[in-house]
Order: sequence, then structure tokens, then C-alpha cells
Amino acid sequence: MIIILKDKRKEEDVQDLYDYLGQYKVDIKPIEGTQSTILGLVGDTTKIDMTDILAKEVVADVKRVSEPYKAANRKFHPDDTIVEVGGRKIGGKHFKVIAGPCSVESEEQVIEVAKAVKASGAAFLRGGAFKPRTSPYSFQGLHAEGLELLLKAKAATGLPIVTEIMSLAHLDLFSDVDIIQVGARNMQNFELLKELGHSKKPILLKRGLANTIEEFLMSAEYIMAGGNENVILCERGIRTFETMTRNTLDISAIPVLKHYSHLPVIVDPSHATGIPWLVEPLSQAAIAAGADGLMIEVHNNPKAALCDGAQSLTPAQFDDVMQKVKKLTAVFDREL
Ligand code: PEP
Ligand code: MN
Repeated sequence: MIIILKDKRKEEDVQDLYDYLGQYKVDIKPIEGTQSTILGLVGDTTKIDMTDILAKEVVADVKRVSEPYKAANRKFHPDDTIVEVGGRKIGGKHFKVIAGPCSVESEEQVIEVAKAVKASGAAFLRGGAFKPRTSPYSFQGLHAEGLELLLKAKAATGLPIVTEIMSLAHLDLFSDVDIIQVGARNMQNFELLKELGHSKKPILLKRGLANTIEEFLMSAEYIMAGGNENVILCERGIRTFETMTRNTLDISAIPVLKHYSHLPVIVDPSHATGIPWLVEPLSQAAIAAGADGLMIEVHNNPKAALCDGAQSLTPAQFDDVMQKVKKLTAVFDREL
């Protein structure tokens, strides 16, 4: 971190800044230039809040030269993190597909979809029991009953389950869930992230609708700072001016995330586009860009779905996508 001091400054204000920085374990290296004076901070600056520094009387500007996240940072953990759950691995060379309905609607529905996606090669079953809907009048999910139905589908197929948590108040209900999903709308629900940091369960963290990659990694950092290293990042499209697709899939986020972080990165082409026929080309693009997995919405009867039917694949369409996924993962030397 570099702090640029104001040209006109009082010695007591400089001392005040030094006193403030004293609480952090950093060395302060002053450099007196002809134009201005800067202080280089050497050491772990992750805990220093730039806005607090900027508020000091003597400070003209402050700049970060290293990332504000540490646990999620590849610099301190050069090897890829491999998240292992239910005997399945995600990350490194291991590529996994998570598939299932947007929301759990009935026992027949979730078991039928679970069997179909398993037959096509999915490694995990997804399904929402608590749904973050834009309208309070839309179907909100079956809640605890939905979680029970997911567990029945797991018992019927052996597929580990992934489902979204929306409130800390429901955490006890998630004790048998294999991967807890934090949805886009909760990416910056910091109290939720902190509590999940104390859990041992893998967390699937989705990128917020309008969040930068750095903010995304800082949210992962919240979970990891609590001791939970099992975080899977999910790029699910961001808001842009484009209206032809539900969101805009940020393909570049995949290599960028993998460059700066060791965490596995998966892609959700269903929410990214909202359009079933775009799931296949964007799944292929995600593999080529280095993703560690996919999350795809599949419904046995999309036209009658209670949530996100318009973007859901039928089991037959999903099977077609999986044929392409199998071919391309082999080309890119990934294990399905
Ligand atoms: C979902 O996965 O069902 C979901 C609601 O996704 P997102 O949080 O990405 O909108
Ligand atoms: Mn959905």
C-alpha cells in the first residue's frame, strides 16, 4: 500500500498517521521526492481500510499495490484447491456438473429429474427449497419440506445435493445438505457469510448481480477468514445494458478468478442467459476458458415449472449438452 502525503502538512498530523499505522504489523518506508512524499507500507496490509487512511488530515491519496484478500489469494496458495464432497472432487483437473430444477416442487418431480441427470453424467443434484424471488407473490419454495424431498432424491440416486440458504435462521435445517449455495442476492450478506465460515460444509458462492470480481473474492474471503476453506465460486452472469439475455455471462471472469485465486470456479449458463439453447454453447465456452464445473437447470416439464421454466432444459436437452461436455472436457484434459 502506498500513501501519498499532502505537500503542506503539519508534523503533528504526520505523527498522528504513524501512530494510527502502529496498530498494524507493517513497516513504513518513507520516500521523499522533489514533488511529493510517499509512504510505502510493507507487510500484511489486508486489514487496513483505505478509506480510514484517506480520512487522515495529512493524506492526499492512497493506493493498493497488492490484493485485499489473503486466504483466497493464489499468491499465498499456488496450488488449485480441490473441494471434495460425497466422494466427488471439484477443482484441479476435476470437472463436475451440478444439475436439477430451479426449485423442488414435488417428490415425483425431483426424483425423476435426479435420475435423469444422473444417467446423463451429473455428479450433484441441485434444487431450491428457499427461493429468492423478485416478487413476494411468486412461488417461494417448499422450505423444510423441499429439503426433505432433496434428501429423498439423494437416497434414490446417491447424488449429493446442492441447495440455497437465504437466512441464518434456517441453518439448522441444512445439516444434511452436501453443498450450501449462497445465491447472487446474498453474495454480500456478510453476517451469513461469516456464519458459514464457521461451518465445515462446502459453500457454493454465486457472484452478485452487479459485483466486481474483487468484491466476489472478498466475499469468499469472509467465509475463509472464519476457517472454512471449502469455497466454490460460481459465475452466473452480471447485469449489463444487454437485453437479449437475462444477464451477461462474464467469460473472462473464469480465467481472471483462477489467476488471482486458487478456488474452483464453476459456471451457471442457465441464470446467465435465461435461454435454454444458449446453455450448450456457453457450457462449451466455460470449459474452454478453464472452468471447473457447470451448474445447469433441468426440469422434467419446463412449461409447468413453478420457477425458471423458461431457461430450464428438458432431460433430453441436458443429455445432449452432456455429450458435448464429455467431449470437450476430454480435449481440455479434465476428469469428469
Ligand atoms: C438459483 O441458482 O436458483 C438462483 C436463484 O441463482 P442466482 O442466485 O444466481 O440468481
Ligand atoms: Mn433458477
